[in-house]
Amino acid sequence: KVRVRFAPSPTGPLHIGGVRTALFNYLFAKKNGGDFILRIEDTDQNRYVEGAEEYIINSLNWCGIPFDEGPGKEKGFGPYRQSERKHLYSQYADELVQQGKAYYAFDTPERLDFHRKDHEAKGKTFIYNWHNRLKLDNSLSLNEQETQKRLDSGEEYVIRFKTPQDEKLVLTDLVRGKIEIDTNTLDDKVLFKSDGMPTYHLANIVDDHLMEITHVIRGEEWLPSLALHQQLYDAFGWRAPKFAHLPLIMKPVGKGKLSKRDGEKMGFPVFPLSWKDSVGYREAGYFPEAVVNFLALLGWNPGTEQEIFSLQELTQSFTLERVNKSGARFDPDKTKWYNQHYLQEKSNEELAGLFVKYMENHSVDTERSRSDEGGLDSARPDSSYVEKVVSLIKERAAFVSDFWDLSDYFFVAPETYDEKAVKKQWKEDTPTVMTELLTVLQNIDDFASETVENTVKEWIANKELSFGKVMPPLRLIIVGAMKGPHLFDIMALIGKEETLGRLERALE
Ligand code: GLU
Repeated sequence: KVRVRFAPSPTGPLHIGGVRTALFNYLFAKKNGGDFILRIEDTDQNRYVEGAEEYIINSLNWCGIPFDEGPGKEKGFGPYRQSERKHLYSQYADELVQQGKAYYAFDTPERLDFHRKDHEAKGKTFIYNWHNRLKLDNSLSLNEQETQKRLDSGEEYVIRFKTPQDEKLVLTDLVRGKIEIDTNTLDDKVLFKSDGMPTYHLANIVDDHLMEITHVIRGEEWLPSLALHQQLYDAFGWRAPKFAHLPLIMKPVGKGKLSKRDGEKMGFPVFPLSWKDSVGYREAGYFPEAVVNFLALLGWNPGTEQEIFSLQELTQSFTLERVNKSGARFDPDKTKWYNQHYLQEKSNEELAGLFVKYMENHSVDTERSRSDEGGLDSARPDSSYVEKVVSLIKERAAFVSDFWDLSDYFFVAPETYDEKAVKKQWKEDTPTVMTELLTVLQNIDDFASETVENTVKEWIANKELSFGKVMPPLRLIIVGAMKGPHLFDIMALIGKEETLGRLERALE
């Protein structure tokens, strides 16, 4: 059975790159009838951030990609937080030491720093492995007794993996294919520290093994660790999971990977939910369907032109074979385009509810014209009125927060008129024409859009007037600017009284 895991470290909010990793794991699990596991990799206490785990879980739930197993959802492979699994790891480090595949090293941080800087000064990279491990201050230059003595005396140590010399490793990645690595380029990575904590590498592969993970799907930044991980599986004699490394998500322009700074500079969210001063996708008014859809296409392609995918369609179409090798460029405009699409799919009722909440939160003054100046026929914008407004303007909106600017004239009569448009559309005879139109409109009993339209058109024809003489100034009077949906729909919705009121005020 397919078992995949998302293994974030709770060091802060989840970046959308992390959400993309979680999503691909989720899709792969669901496509294959498998399980999606959440494991919290919190072995590095120094980097632990309060609230990060909760944030991660809330984000996955908001996106609609909940985990099957994880903290609070025990299914026999727990606990799912590495800090609660501490006791498990040391035996594995010891096992490798006993087999001569790992060793104790006593280098002080100062010594290592010295070597690193010394190499740097000579334009070389410091690699800690066979060629210098003997020269360094570690136990390989000591005998077993000496090592024991140092351990007994409580000297600080780490356990390092003993990378073999002069070997070629052939690694397989489901995205990149075969990768050859010369072991002489690899460090003897630290597996275990004297504070009793394993490093990421050891804990990660021990847990993947114990949790029976079949596929490791993670970001490309972990590709350099693959050689060590594969060697660890071999050293333990365990069957390694299959690996797939997802391409980086790149900045919208220029080189490099997408960062929080890009979002701040260009004004788009990089977190699914708000975190401190950063507004998340949810709070910016994105729908989870839109976020899931655009993330799915960052690094995966369906092999067709199709761009719109529901989560369900994604779980059917997703394959690791179609994950791209090259970095995926993040396009903030495209994320808006997706949101615009999903907004159209929402019912007017749901959107009206969101809009009313938005107006309340932004203390939009919908009462102004109605209370003071006669105003709309209905005393309050009741929900069915708002729904009708939404139905007329939503196609121009990408977010519910766009609604007010697109529809304010449905709630408040224009107080000013777009000057440029007035200059262009308001002719000498406009007042006469509009005064006459006022009478025509007064005589309409059934103020439905079509009736009004037919009556006005008939009048225009009879009077041998042109559309251009009537419609633009009329729109200016009703809307205040040359914008908005079909004018007769607007008039019908704001009602006869309000329409006549706006005409009268404009002609005063
Ligand atoms: N804890 C690692 C991270 O924060 C997990 C990497 C992996 O999936 O192996 O991304």
